[in-house]
Amino acid sequence: MGDKNIILTGDRPTGRLHLGHYVGSLKRRVELQNSGKYDDIYILIADDQALTDNADNPRKIRDNIVNVVLDYLSVGIDPKKTTICVQSALPALHALTFYYTNLVTTARLSRNPTVKSEIQMRGFAEEGLPTGFFIYPVSQAADITAFNANVVPVGEDQLPMLEQAREIVEKFNRIYGETLVLPTAMIPENEMQRRLPGVDGKAKMSKSLGNCIYLSDDSKTVKKQVNGRMFTDPTHLQITDPGHTEGNVVFTYLDALCNDGHFAEYLPEYANLEEMKEHYRRGGLGDGTCKKFLINILEETLSPIRAERAKWEADIDSVYDIIKEGTEKAIETTNETLARVRKAMKIDYFEDRSIIGEWKELLKH
Ligand code: ATP
Ligand code: MG
Repeated sequence: MGDKNIILTGDRPTGRLHLGHYVGSLKRRVELQNSGKYDDIYILIADDQALTDNADNPRKIRDNIVNVVLDYLSVGIDPKKTTICVQSALPALHALTFYYTNLVTTARLSRNPTVKSEIQMRGFAEEGLPTGFFIYPVSQAADITAFNANVVPVGEDQLPMLEQAREIVEKFNRIYGETLVLPTAMIPENEMQRRLPGVDGKAKMSKSLGNCIYLSDDSKTVKKQVNGRMFTDPTHLQITDPGHTEGNVVFTYLDALCNDGHFAEYLPEYANLEEMKEHYRRGGLGDGTCKKFLINILEETLSPIRAERAKWEADIDSVYDIIKEGTEKAIETTNETLARVRKAMKIDYFEDRSIIGEWKELLKH
């Protein structure tokens, strides 16, 4: 424990994965997977967590498991290097969650800024807040620690969850002795990739907000999202007007996605994004050109992903076997952690008969 490099990440099977997932986390996961620097890499399909705000819609979660796995495989997650597993099939996670709730106050949970905004977004402030949703950061701490992960590559919205997990680990280790690995978040260096906004300009591209470009969208849909829904600069009426690049959704996406190679390929009049922005600010660069450039980049990014998805879609039996085998391995790993936790908490009565000796000793007096 503690001397290995282990990654855990996960996604809620509430829909197909989108460009925000790609830039915020998936792309990084593939790079880390292929770096060869990690002893173990796990991806958890967080169906139990998804049920905390979808209890009335189990069909949605069941159906989206396959979508999420297909998205993983199509971006280059390799099941030989990365273990893909399903949360609900790992009973150790439930037990750990229950124990960890004792280490967290309700006041602390109420302060979590991501959960606060999600409560608003889902209308729970008016309807009432499901307890399971309220405590999902605790279950996420269970996920991370169960796999002994020290590295967790996530988007910015997950930082409060990582902070919560670290607090739980520190408190657990303080009370029960050094048992759990302290995890660290790994967020993208590129600021726009940490929290990609929606095509509608809303703060976050999110399945629940319906403002996504999905990794499995076809070319026509992608074009429609860019041309029809992305706003640029409302004060940039004529091509010759000076324009603003800040808060301009098209430029935010370019910030997140483009590199100098894209200019050489599709827009050679500029060497890089800075030159292009400079021209836009000066006036004389039309929104149509900017959108067309973005569409070219999106196509270059998404077309190999689509092709790979099509291959796996034709082989769903293998997809099933991949997550079944991954889950079997994960059951072992998480059970080992649970056994360690139970021992540290002195509730491992039936591991061996040593407690009999303790009781006898106790009863002598
Ligand atoms: P939901 O609306 O159901 O919560 P979601 O779109 O927020 O779905 P999650 O499954 O909650 O997706 O998030 C999975 C991972 O993707 C997390 O690491 C999260 O930080 C990252 N992520 C999600 N949306 C974005 C985004 N717009 N930009 C960057 N990273 C993101
Ligand atoms: Mg989310």
